[in-house]
Amino acid sequence: MDFTEKTVLITGGSRGIGRATARAFAEKGARVAINFHSDNEAAKATIESLPGEGHFAIRADLGSSGAVEQMINAVVREFGRLDILVNNAGIFKLHPITEVSYDQWQQVWKDTLAINLTGAANATYCAARHMIEAGGGRIINVSSRGAFRGEPDQPAYGASKAAMNAMGQSLAQALAPYNIFIGTVAPGFVETDMAKAWLEGEEGDSIRRQSPLQRVAQPEEVALGILFLASEGSEFMTGAILDINGASYL
Ligand code: NAD
Repeated sequence: MDFTEKTVLITGGSRGIGRATARAFAEKGARVAINFHSDNEAAKATIESLPGEGHFAIRADLGSSGAVEQMINAVVREFGRLDILVNNAGIFKLHPITEVSYDQWQQVWKDTLAINLTGAANATYCAARHMIEAGGGRIINVSSRGAFRGEPDQPAYGASKAAMNAMGQSLAQALAPYNIFIGTVAPGFVETDMAKAWLEGEEGDSIRRQSPLQRVAQPEEVALGILFLASEGSEFMTGAILDINGASYL
């Protein structure tokens, strides 16, 4: 996989899967922009750690449609074009239906859908406009195994990721005539801040024991799937949802 001369934007790229993806693209020759929301220092450190030149970080709240449009336009201005967009940013909040108030319930649904789904949809819209003009591009969505099996205390998260899967499949059809290919990765548990609460202590041991490989994914292993779907030669996988879960059904 060679991404020399390619330009990439990764949303939520300052840590976890986004940071590993930024590093993997940079190692393969790409110029990388990472989006961040509030963690300025982490974003700066990530950019400084990347091999190669021309990388930069850009602040934007994915929950704001105006900020998303400005971010995509700024990246295209800086790089001259945008070849690959990775919709990676996401949030995850517990909201057990029998325990939260109606106000809390509504807030979690609103925030989760705004960032995980509408944020990715808006970034896709704005990026696709530029890609159509440039003659093509790739858009990779970071979904989750939660889209298929649900979780009792996080219905908004699973719903946002299931909708992201459907969005990717729809837009793969709509954008194929423009040489824009869309792939989705659906990881299970990945060793990042987001999954920390599950992966520590007894519960973490139990999750690992139940996995055929006796472990969960590392962010670099998800990055590999993202690079594969963004690489030359994987065009016919457009619309595909790649299961990255070590044959675990957790
Ligand atoms: P993480 O919490 O480390 O990363 C999430 C990133 O999204 C962070 O950089 C965060 O700053 C960013 N973000 C959150 N809200 C934002 C906003 N409003 N605007 C811009 N950026 C925002 O966790 P991660 O595991 O690296 O998650 C990356 C993606 O992978 C997410 O979409 C997540 O749903 C998905 N995922 C994670 C796991 C897992 O077990 N860790 C499993 C399946 C899917």
